[in-house]
Amino acid sequence: MSVTLESRPAPAFRPPAVVGAGLRVPLATGGEAEYANLDYAASAPCLAEVKAAVDDALTTYASVHRGAGYASRISTGRYEAARAALAGFVGARADDQVVFVRNTTDALNLLAHALPAGCTVVVFETEHHAALLPWEGTAAAVRRLPAPAGPGEAVRAARAALRTAAPGPRLLCVTGASNVTGELWPVAELAAAARAEGARTVLDAAQLAPHRPVDIQALGVDYVALSGHKLYAPFGAGVLAGRADWLRAAPPYLRGGGATRSVGARTEWHEGPERHEAGSPNVIGAHALAAACAALVRTGRERIAARERELLDRLRRGLAAVPGVTELSLWAPERDRVGIAAFSVDGLPADLLAAALSAEHGIGVRDGLFCAHPLTRRLLPPGAATAVRASIGLGTTAEHVDRLVAAVRTLAADGP
Ligand code: PLP
Repeated sequence: MSVTLESRPAPAFRPPAVVGAGLRVPLATGGEAEYANLDYAASAPCLAEVKAAVDDALTTYASVHRGAGYASRISTGRYEAARAALAGFVGARADDQVVFVRNTTDALNLLAHALPAGCTVVVFETEHHAALLPWEGTAAAVRRLPAPAGPGEAVRAARAALRTAAPGPRLLCVTGASNVTGELWPVAELAAAARAEGARTVLDAAQLAPHRPVDIQALGVDYVALSGHKLYAPFGAGVLAGRADWLRAAPPYLRGGGATRSVGARTEWHEGPERHEAGSPNVIGAHALAAACAALVRTGRERIAARERELLDRLRRGLAAVPGVTELSLWAPERDRVGIAAFSVDGLPADLLAAALSAEHGIGVRDGLFCAHPLTRRLLPPGAATAVRASIGLGTTAEHVDRLVAAVRTLAADGP
């Protein structure tokens, strides 16, 4: 039989391999199971190709920007290549700065440190604490907005708050995707509203970047913050990218070697990103983060998003069919979201449920208030103190999802 091109099935999409896939874990009930990691929103496992890039970098490295030797030159080249790669990954403008930091929390604290005098920061109380809290304790006036009833209301409320803020620089801080509900926020519309009021926008892309493209220019934002450990790279490297002027004018975030041009009677600080990166930098972390970004782009962001959408639909439909389960959602449940579903089960404390999922079923989830206390408390059904969050990524399979749904069904039926 001849097979025409048209009749050939499309090749199945094989996501890039993650380190640790197929791990077997002991069960409290005896025996063992393949570990179902459904906690990607906390930290994603490293991609196998990122691990290979790290292994390679570890074979030849030395001080960055400090040594004349071969290994130093290799390290310095890797570090600056990573900076350029991250600039490309987030669609930075030619004159933006890309500062390497430890994670999103660090990035947003750096920006808080760099706010100009007289600045007002507008932020929704629904934010992760990393985006909610850094502005407090600075000289900025902070306007915390209540949870908006919908995306349109978010844009209207942000714009009104920016318009009525005291004259001076203003910054709107928004999340790309909620770490509690996965819901996508209308970032481009919020940034346009901020621009219309002469304000800037910083995007907390910690949860968005692993699942969707993040493009400073396409979204019209001024700054982006992200974490490598949520992006399939190891812990310890993140980025703040965006407008250079506030960063250049700010006192150094860290003081020490590498941030200075000259130290004598007075200290002259660099004006580039190294101004805020004093001390020996995390070259391996930056290199790993760049490798992870390259792998995601090579795999195809659309293909990743489409696969995750399917898995998330399966998860949400499965959970919705379990009696007593309530999914946490700020806005309409049908709104697009990244691979996160937080839920509670009537009469079953979330910590017990999460512990039983791990011990009896080999399934890793997170329980608690997810470092977003105001939002999570607002969304919890009456009687629930905390929730369970399942989150998916490149190593998640339909079998993991089905196993979670079946386990929740069993545990909900058994009760505490
Ligand atoms: N923003 C969001 C939406 C997050 O989910 C997280 C972490 O969970 C952060 C910021 C903080 O990230 P990190 O702990 O890497 O600084």
